[in-house]
Amino acid sequence: MTYNHIETNCVQAGYEPKNGEPRVLPIIQSTTYKYDSSEEMGQLFDLEKTGYFYTRLQNPTNDAVAAKIAALEGGVAAVLTSSGQAASFYSVFNICSAGDHVVSSAAIYGGTFNLFSVTMKKLGIDFTFVSPDSDEAELNAAFRPNTKAVFAETLSNPSLTVLDIELFAKAAHAHGVPLIVDNTFPTPVNCRPFEFGADIVIHSTTKYMDGHATSVGGVVVDSGNFDWTQNDKFPGLTTPDDSYHGITYTDSFGKGAYIMKAVVQLMRDLGSIPSPHNSFLLNLGLETLFLRVPRHFENALKVAQYLEKNDKIAWINFPSLEGNKYYERAQKYMPNGTSGVVSFGVKGGRKAAERFMDSLKLAAVVTHVADCRTCVLHPASSTHRQLTDEQLVAAGVGPDLIRFSVGIENIEDILADIEQALANV
Ligand SMILES: *Cc1c(COP(=O)(O)O)cnc(C)c1O
Repeated sequence: MTYNHIETNCVQAGYEPKNGEPRVLPIIQSTTYKYDSSEEMGQLFDLEKTGYFYTRLQNPTNDAVAAKIAALEGGVAAVLTSSGQAASFYSVFNICSAGDHVVSSAAIYGGTFNLFSVTMKKLGIDFTFVSPDSDEAELNAAFRPNTKAVFAETLSNPSLTVLDIELFAKAAHAHGVPLIVDNTFPTPVNCRPFEFGADIVIHSTTKYMDGHATSVGGVVVDSGNFDWTQNDKFPGLTTPDDSYHGITYTDSFGKGAYIMKAVVQLMRDLGSIPSPHNSFLLNLGLETLFLRVPRHFENALKVAQYLEKNDKIAWINFPSLEGNKYYERAQKYMPNGTSGVVSFGVKGGRKAAERFMDSLKLAAVVTHVADCRTCVLHPASSTHRQLTDEQLVAAGVGPDLIRFSVGIENIEDILADIEQALANV
């Protein structure tokens, strides 16, 4: 059951106990499920009956959490994956194979960029990377006859560009392909991509959804709005699957076809399933998502406003700050706020950035972002350490760039920490 308001869906959607069953979502830590006859088991294998038979394909704890996230995004179905990386891979590979092509925004997470430009390229899938600020003509020029999808991040990590979702959806649909967006940073609390024409949403649930830095995970959600039968671009969904006795996903599962294929084909063959225990923890995080996300944003806005006025700061990027390049777009697509992530540069370049970071006491230096604890990362001395200053600038990650992920602590304590660290620069 789903409700009209996201707060209620965070708390209630996905799991509905029957009479006498546990009130809290149980962890079904079982690989297998018992049946009375082998005939029944056979029907499950043929997808003639629904039911659990092996946790690599489906598990009740995982499914309840997937259903909750589908409700939060306003989609028809979802599948959890063992990481955000797996979700990105499944979302594209579910409709692409060797010889196909994808148009992707260049402003995407580094791990996704590697997945697309190196690993999936080895599988024979080509990507054209376009500016997130492309106009309609530039977008249209990137398509080829074999293009099968458009991919972008609604609010990009780490560059914090805001996607013109309607424009990207329009270009995708004009070419008969879906728009897939990674909505990790805003979460469905701050951005609802399906309402602006996106067809598939993915998340790294590792970030705000889990929110407590306990479990790596991902999810793929289908809006159910894309018509896979409108052209012959998606034979994997619209023609018989030999590995399932000739089942045709769009015929048998209608709006559930895309997620069903991802589960029974990709999950069966690749097996990137989350552990039920991790899904239980993810569900606990989701129950308070609607409380945490506004607080992250409120604190981040105050940090951004504080830094903007500080003369030790060279520049600041926060899309919800008036004057930011993406301010108008953020107001349209994320009217209640963007996320808790702020990036900025300290005057004095790499050395000053390192000194600032080392002086922080509350904000922890970690390779993570978007959890309840304030944390900070200096890409030039960590994730992008091998690059020279010139290469860093070319990659859009200046040597002085600090990615500050504002937590939900008291804002006075966060600002005091920044203040004392800046005093050491
Ligand atoms: C972290 C992240 C990913 C990758 O997710 P993992 O859970 O680390 O595999 C993908 N997209 C975005 C925007 C991210 O921040």
